[in-house]
Amino acid sequence: MKLLRFGEAGAEKPGMLDANGDLRDLSGVIDDIAGDVLSDDGLARLRALNPDDLPRVAGNPRLGACVGDIGKFCCIGLNYSDHAAETGSAIPEHPILFMKANSAIVGPNDTVMLPRGSTRTDWEVELGVVIGRTCKYVDRAQALDHVAGYCVVNDVSERHFQSGLTGQWTKGKSCDTFGPTGPWLVTRDEVPDPQALDMYLDVNGKRMQTGTTATMIFTVAEIIEHLSQLFTLHPGDVISTGTPPGVGLGMKPQPVFLRAGDVMELGIAGLGDQRQEVGQDA
Ligand code: ZN
Repeated sequence: MKLLRFGEAGAEKPGMLDANGDLRDLSGVIDDIAGDVLSDDGLARLRALNPDDLPRVAGNPRLGACVGDIGKFCCIGLNYSDHAAETGSAIPEHPILFMKANSAIVGPNDTVMLPRGSTRTDWEVELGVVIGRTCKYVDRAQALDHVAGYCVVNDVSERHFQSGLTGQWTKGKSCDTFGPTGPWLVTRDEVPDPQALDMYLDVNGKRMQTGTTATMIFTVAEIIEHLSQLFTLHPGDVISTGTPPGVGLGMKPQPVFLRAGDVMELGIAGLGDQRQEVGQDA
């Protein structure tokens, strides 16, 4: 299933994509794509519905982030060996974890706003993992059983805020609009191998990132195992699992960063595509 949220920001309704690619309204069935809805039982209930019986959504509404009520937005840094190389970093011994403030989360096609003082805002296409079942101290062999599904994330990053403002990466990862998430949550039954997904990102029509989740240093299962040793993962938590090469910071001979008016287009095979225009905070 492809689950989504549509409507005005802050007032999104739950929906699903039918076999024809039309949006169907789930608001008569559930309140949100969140919490218990993400459990195996909750998803089985939705799977039993006939999409033809659900109201078809007219027009072309805005999409919100594909998960509501996200408790934690965990991000893994330098998780592709070739991306670590382009940034001049060593291969990490354990997954690098940082948090993105939930207030950064926006819909997949919302405008990304450069914050005041930004001159080094960058893009990062990433596989997002949505937790469906509470887990703590889970072994990698069982880790994927705790996943509701997968989605596309753009881990937008201000490199000066990230590294030059004293302190932790969170500063450069948490600016408002720096977390486009969606377009849909693709349930895990439709993603048999999360380590075999092609991904891309274009800026102004030019291919910047080309990658595959096959080259992750730590797999999704290993990341969930590791994080669940540190804290409990809850339904609706999202883990963004790192980016492949081709970020602006790594461009030669000069780094390239986003400017107002640029357009980012990105996606992952089977998980859909995002498109963001870049704006500038006043
Ligand atoms: Zn990232």
